Amino acid sequence: MTAYIDKIKEAARRVLSEKKVDAVIGFKSGSVAMMTEPCLISSAEDVDKLVWDSNCRLNLANYAKGRKDKVAVIAKGCDSRNLVTHIIENQIKRENLYIIGVPCTGMVDKSVIKTMCPGDITAMTENGDDIKIVCDGSEKALKKPEVLQSNCKTCMHRNPALFDEMIAEPVKEQEVADRFADIKKIEAMSGDDRWKFFEDMLSSCTRCYACKNACPLCYCPTCFVDESRPQWVGKGLDPIDVRTYHFLRAFHCAGRCTDCGACEAACPMDIKVRLFTKKLEKDCFESFGWEAGMSIDERPPLDTYKVNDQESFIR
Ligand code: SF4
Ligand code: SF4
Ligand code: SF4
Repeated sequence: MTAYIDKIKEAARRVLSEKKVDAVIGFKSGSVAMMTEPCLISSAEDVDKLVWDSNCRLNLANYAKGRKDKVAVIAKGCDSRNLVTHIIENQIKRENLYIIGVPCTGMVDKSVIKTMCPGDITAMTENGDDIKIVCDGSEKALKKPEVLQSNCKTCMHRNPALFDEMIAEPVKEQEVADRFADIKKIEAMSGDDRWKFFEDMLSSCTRCYACKNACPLCYCPTCFVDESRPQWVGKGLDPIDVRTYHFLRAFHCAGRCTDCGACEAACPMDIKVRLFTKKLEKDCFESFGWEAGMSIDERPPLDTYKVNDQESFIR
């Protein structure tokens, strides 16, 4: 992944110098190890701030929506699919967007690495699949496939679905035996066990909303959790309110979520929030053969009607 950075900088410098765009949205280094920050570069002189590595886990489509200027976005597979969703949902005009596509080999899960390297992690470097972590002053070698984010392990679209230029040849897409295996395991539980599973999973949620703030799909001017007339959901940590928030947010993402993992990566409590959205991704795929963000010419299943639609869910 780090090998792409020179090409990314070259493309960013060119589009800014040629005034093709007003700004480039990419990543810069974060203030602590294994973190990057989204950044907006509006001058060719600042392009050297950009970085690209396996810690660029946030979804940059989140920062392109609603802008009035023309922006370039450095986009891996999932970012590009959320950009497509924003074009379909009229949040971004195609003519105001320039997509610098990056073939992706996945992002690493910092929580998994922290479990494998307990202590003070001060640096991470990578070379292909070889990852080196400096933890409590000592170096530890890891292999990237062992520490990938769970969504990246089952990602079927690592190459951008839509782009104006690609900075490298496409990577080979993964062959995944069953990308919904984790969801099927939960579906197979008894009702009581499933309830307990989600009750335990959400017990540490602090309602910080990092998950919805990181998600490109959460762009309602007023989120339902903030409505006060009427108040749909209480604001405290009552388990009913916590569940209501998660269930309703997941349903808002039905047919739109690209399983980019930004919500989960942002959660300070390491809650597996994708289990909700992925269930709906599975249902959309099985009911309508739909995968979000693959084409700007196709309408999502939940805003179209076909006479031969399956309607088992309302019978
Ligand atoms: S979900 Fe796919 S495209 Fe997105 S970061 Fe993971 S591997 Fe890359
Ligand atoms: S719900 Fe999570 S996985 Fe889905 S698009 Fe939003 S941030 Fe990405
Ligand atoms: S980011 Fe985590 S702790 Fe915060 S609201 Fe979302 S699930 Fe809860």
